[in-house]
Amino acid sequence: MLTRRCIALYSGGLDSILAVKMIEEQGVEAIPIKFYSPFFGFEIIQDQQTYIQYHESAFGINVRLVDFTQDIIEIIKSPKHGYGKQLNPCIDCKIGMLKKAGHFLETYGASFVITGEVLGQRPMSQRKEPMNSIIKESGLKDILLRPLCARQLKETLPERMGIVNRENLGDIVGRGRKDQIMLAGKYGIDKELIPTPAGGCLLADEHISSKVRNASDRFHPGLPGKDDLILDIVGRKFNLDESTVLVVSRNDEENDVLSTLISPGNIFVKIADVPGPLSIIRGVITKENILKAASICMRYGKGRGLSGLKALYGPDPYNLADCVESPVVTEEYCTTFQIDLHK
Ligand code: SF4
Repeated sequence: MLTRRCIALYSGGLDSILAVKMIEEQGVEAIPIKFYSPFFGFEIIQDQQTYIQYHESAFGINVRLVDFTQDIIEIIKSPKHGYGKQLNPCIDCKIGMLKKAGHFLETYGASFVITGEVLGQRPMSQRKEPMNSIIKESGLKDILLRPLCARQLKETLPERMGIVNRENLGDIVGRGRKDQIMLAGKYGIDKELIPTPAGGCLLADEHISSKVRNASDRFHPGLPGKDDLILDIVGRKFNLDESTVLVVSRNDEENDVLSTLISPGNIFVKIADVPGPLSIIRGVITKENILKAASICMRYGKGRGLSGLKALYGPDPYNLADCVESPVVTEEYCTTFQIDLHK
């Protein structure tokens, strides 16, 4: 017997909010699950409670958070269905999330899964053919319901069993947002709070993709870890040698983000006595690499070109206990180590 409870794949975007509202309107309880990783949901890694509270207060949605980092790291390595324009393996990513959502059915006593997908909205994963592959390979078969475009698709089990009424589901197609904005009004979502159209996945960003490719190559045939990939999200990135990277912040905001990345293996570097960027070295921490890091760090701070300045370093950005004299180097020297020269 099917229960009147489902798992909702929740991205935090308008479509997934509406899918939850549409199903709840039919008296079905939705358990919204947000899968996050450094590439989609970096803000969650930094502060889970703020995310949960915001979605509760803005949309009345009580979201559960599930770390998808290890899954996406493995998917990026060799996605069966390939990549989008950049390093975004959308079809495999969707399949992976749905498989994982399927594992939660029993935990929550739910009997089907919903998503906010709209037929024809995304070039890679929301055409009819990939949507069918996703159904097949996720193993969910006819317990995968896409409420916003359900009437454009084959009837699913919860529809056949009368758990949800197909007539009250959507038939939205394409990339426009008009229908969704109307639905948002119907469900009482404040116009000001409507999330902007998706675009939040950093794997679709050219610069970040090039850094992630570099990290994957560095660890080949193994896989990078979460702490390695987080360093691809922010700042300028340099390869100090084949196993050591340096990330240098570009502004105060990035200084703040980097200062939160205290983690085993991360060593912070900063030039003493003059304003400048905070940096992190990760990999093989030798005197030579500390000096390289110090020289690059100085090049991007207010002390550029000045001799006799010291660089402080250590595992705690608020208590940098060790010190070296920072060498003066040219810009060309720094750029020889830089991974993404567009930034
Ligand atoms: S855009 Fe990113 S999060 Fe969304 S399906 Fe593609 S890879 Fe996954």
